Amino acid sequence: MLDKEENLNKENKPKNAELLDENNLHRAGFVSIVGKPNVGKSTLMNQLVGENLAIITSKAQTTRHRIMGILSGDDYQIVYSDTPGIIQPKYELHKKMMRFVTNSLQDADVILFVTDIFEKFDENDVLKILQDTAIPIVLIINKIDLAEQDVIKEKVEYWKEKLNPKAVLALSALHNFNTESVLEVIKDFLPSHPAFFAKDTLTNKSERFFAAEIIREKIFLNYEKEIPYCCQVEIIAFDDKSKDDLIQISAEIYVERKSQKGIIIGKGGKMLTKVGTAARLDMEKFFGKRVYLQQFVKVEEDWRKHPQKLKRFGFEDM
Ligand code: GDP
Ligand code: MG
Repeated sequence: MLDKEENLNKENKPKNAELLDENNLHRAGFVSIVGKPNVGKSTLMNQLVGENLAIITSKAQTTRHRIMGILSGDDYQIVYSDTPGIIQPKYELHKKMMRFVTNSLQDADVILFVTDIFEKFDENDVLKILQDTAIPIVLIINKIDLAEQDVIKEKVEYWKEKLNPKAVLALSALHNFNTESVLEVIKDFLPSHPAFFAKDTLTNKSERFFAAEIIREKIFLNYEKEIPYCCQVEIIAFDDKSKDDLIQISAEIYVERKSQKGIIIGKGGKMLTKVGTAARLDMEKFFGKRVYLQQFVKVEEDWRKHPQKLKRFGFEDM
C-alpha cells in the first residue's frame, strides 16, 4: 500500500517509462467502473482485485470517492477505479461526487459499465455521457442470480442497443459467478504498455483512508435514513510505529447538526460503542494487527452544502 494518496491520471504517468520492444507484450491501463448506485460496482471491484477495498452496503451511494484497486499479472496490470454511482446531482456533495465520475472517465482505457437485471435506461440520465464516448465499453449485467434465463437474455439485447458496448457479460459479483471472464475481456482492450505501479501494489489509497471507510461502512449499517449520509469520518491519528503489534487510531465523525450527534452516540454511548467495536474488528482483519480505536463525534454545520467544508474533507477538484 502506498503511504500517500496519489493524484493519478494519464499526465502523471511516468515519462521515461521503458519503451516496449516487439517481444514485450505487456499490457497496462486504467479501467473505470461506472454505473448507478447499488448495482454492485464495489462488490465487483473487490472480486476483481481479490481484496475488500471498497465499502459495500445495501444502501445507495456509499462510495463517495474514487478508489483505485490494482490487479497485476505477469503480462498485464489493470488499474481499476471504483466510482460513486451515477446520480442526478442534488446537493453540492453530489456535484463533487459526479466530478469524480467524469474525471475517472477521462483517463480510462476501458469503461466497465455495471448495471443489474433491474435497471432501465432513462433518457434524462447522466448516463447519456456514455452514449457519446469513444472509450471502449465493457458492459456488465450483474445480479443474474436473481433472474431467469430469458430475462437475462432480454437485458443483454436491451443494453447492447442502448450503449453499443464492445462486449456484454452477465454475472453475479456477489456469488463470484462468471467474474473471471471480465479479466479476459478487459485484457483484450488494454493498450500495450509497461506497468504503471510496482507489481505488488494493491491500491493508491492510504491506510487512513481505509480506516475511515471501515467506520463509514459501520455507520451505514447501524443508522437509519439520512443519518449515514450526513456523516464524514476523518482519521486524525494513525500510529503503527509506537508499538509493534498494535495500531492506535483516532477518528472524528462529523455530523451536520447537534441532534444528529445525539443519534450517533446513542443512549449511554451504546450506538457509538457498537459502531466502534464492529469497525475495530474489521480493521484488525484488514491491517493484520490489533487496533485501538478512539472515536469523537463533532458537529460541522451543514458541511455537505459548503464548498469550503467539502474541500476540507477532501472533496476538492481532482
Ligand atoms: P455499488 O453502489 O454499485 O458499489 O454497489 P455495492 O457493491 O455496494 O452493492 C450493493 C448491494 O448489492 C449490496 O448489498 C451487495 O451485496 C449487492 N450485490 C452486489 N452484487 C450482487 C449480486 O451479484 N447478486 C446479488 N443478489 N446482490 C448483489
Ligand atoms: Mg460502491
